[in-house]
Amino acid sequence: MTNLERRRRSVGRHPYCTTCDTHDESTLHVLRDCKFVREVWLYFSPAVYSPTFFTESLQAWLLSNINCHDLVSDYSIPWSTIFVSILWQLWKARNEHVFNSIPQSPTAVWNKGIFWARCDMESFLPPLIRSPDSRSLHWTGPEPGWVCLNVDATVSASTSFGSVAGLLLDQIGSWLSGFQKAIGVLQPLQAELWAVLIGLLFVWDQGFVFVQIQSDCAEAVKLIKADNAYMSPISLVHAIAALRQKAWATKITWIPRTSNFLADMLAKSVDPSSTDFHELDEPPVALMSLLSMDALHLSL
Ligand SMILES: [Zn+2]
Repeated sequence: MTNLERRRRSVGRHPYCTTCDTHDESTLHVLRDCKFVREVWLYFSPAVYSPTFFTESLQAWLLSNINCHDLVSDYSIPWSTIFVSILWQLWKARNEHVFNSIPQSPTAVWNKGIFWARCDMESFLPPLIRSPDSRSLHWTGPEPGWVCLNVDATVSASTSFGSVAGLLLDQIGSWLSGFQKAIGVLQPLQAELWAVLIGLLFVWDQGFVFVQIQSDCAEAVKLIKADNAYMSPISLVHAIAALRQKAWATKITWIPRTSNFLADMLAKSVDPSSTDFHELDEPPVALMSLLSMDALHLSL
């Protein structure tokens, strides 16, 4: 129960929200109006889907959003699915904070909400579209002795600014390292090729000699795997081919976007104002629980 409800039933001492301590903790406050919660919703510009998002009563708010099935363009997931998924994660985050004193970040709630919304979408796909063992949502590890580099790029539709990111995992899905870099104005295919090149240079510098690269860009993978990649007129493809000729073994494979979720999240969270290369010794907090979900899936 919320503190307001506990107080109403004379089982709580005060009605205040334990996160902000300034308002009564009503259901609407926990799920929509608290400062921290508002921050989560504002990631999605919810007024696009419901113009009265922050002013409706609880029942009207729930009904109008649950009945809005417009696709959220970045994810191709209906707003109704994202809405309920985020609601559930907000409630879980509130309880972790209240009962276990575990601090919660809006980004982590947002990421988990999107992750479970995607799981929900995947569960409705017909069996032929799903991978045979339903693993397409999850990362699949490299063969023993190899490391796996997942790369991804993103280009802003409004500014055309691109950014790339990658994460290096061992065969059981443990984090080895990662990187993020803003790369300026680019076409999406160029950005995806940059992600592979920068990722390969990064792993080469770290001294790994058996490296599997995973990218969700079918066109980039096709260009890189082509027999004549070394002769490619596209300088990025040529540079990648030249790097792969060094004294190490590399393989590149295409994977569906849903399996490259972590690299996608990393690329989307790059700060576009600086083109510095950022090495990530530890996974960002927002990725930790998702990493463990993939690791758990591998061990099943
Ligand atoms: Zn509050």
